[in-house]
Amino acid sequence: ATPTALLVGSGRASRLGILIKGPETLESAHGVQTIVLDKTGTLTTGTMAVSAVRPAEGVGERELLAAAAGVERGSEHPIAKAIVALAHERGIEPKAVESVAARAGNGVEGILDGRRIAAGTARWLAEEGVEGASGLGGEPGASVVGVALEGSLLGAFDIRDAVRPESAAAVAELKSLGLHPVLATGDNEAAASAVAAEVGIDDVRAGILPEGKVGIVEELRAAGQKVAMVGDGVNDAAALAGADLSIAMGSGADVAKEAADITVVSSDIRSVGAAIRISAQTLRIIK
Ligand code: ADP
Ligand code: MG
Repeated sequence: ATPTALLVGSGRASRLGILIKGPETLESAHGVQTIVLDKTGTLTTGTMAVSAVRPAEGVGERELLAAAAGVERGSEHPIAKAIVALAHERGIEPKAVESVAARAGNGVEGILDGRRIAAGTARWLAEEGVEGASGLGGEPGASVVGVALEGSLLGAFDIRDAVRPESAAAVAELKSLGLHPVLATGDNEAAASAVAAEVGIDDVRAGILPEGKVGIVEELRAAGQKVAMVGDGVNDAAALAGADLSIAMGSGADVAKEAADITVVSSDIRSVGAAIRISAQTLRIIK
């Protein structure tokens, strides 16, 4: 039987928009030491905008945008939406791209006029043998998306999203509850560090593929830590499933919410601290 205090605790949580899978979740939340936070969509709003269009030599801006929007039309990623929106704004018709497939943590690819088109991280394109991809650079703090057609670079976009206004206060509260925050992201080091500095996180793991996020959770648990994971994306689902306590943002992907013990309906990340406080108070009543 579930102790009354757990039911009362989960009732209090639900009035704050913190949906808990079962009252026992409050026990999982107790004693968490490390909290791994995803960047895009969790600490940031996840609503992105293109801040620079950088065609390669001999390529026109419109040509780059038409090709990129063609392949990104087939992706659900916030980055994809930003590129498609910019093409639309400029009245550019996206190219017809077939067989579009997402490459989690890396980007997206498809077939344009019988040739392979790929849009994604500089690291991924470099691994795929695209010349010049490793030197793509970008504005400090921006996510960089390179676009390659049949292995040659068409250009790149710098893309930004805003840090959620409540993220710094949320991280400060987690620290005051004695938790060690870790930022884990598939994005590049510069973009990750800029957000980490803004919200007050020192422990940054950038360039992490979805499998790598699970690896971080496992590594911390193997070191004896009780680990919470907070995420919103398809790419976070496995890490959420592997954590002692998992929390999904309400605005996030369904698979993330299905994998999570707790869903923060409002996507207000301050609710994460509230959930942990409620669980501590609830267990104090029981014990
Ligand atoms: P995060 O961990 O911050 O939520 P993701 O794992 O979703 O990020 O993505 C990691 C990186 O992969 C992104 O920062 C981006 O550079 C690249 N990427 C993912 N999907 C796409 C896409 N559709 N188009 C271009 N780049 C993408
Ligand atoms: Mg995310």
